[in-house]
Amino acid sequence: MSKKKVALACSECGSRNYSIAENVNRAERLEVKKFCKYCGKHTIHRETK
Ligand SMILES: [Zn+2]
Repeated sequence: MSKKKVALACSECGSRNYSIAENVNRAERLEVKKFCKYCGKHTIHRETK
């Protein structure tokens, strides 16, 4: 079995800064506050499909 990976994109500039392994039992919507080097600050990052 292969683990599914999800890319996290900055909600402000849209850059895909992070990718994580998808957890089967994760919450419905994935939103993480992470540092965006393009924005130069912490922004909400959302999963992309
Ligand atoms: Zn950004």
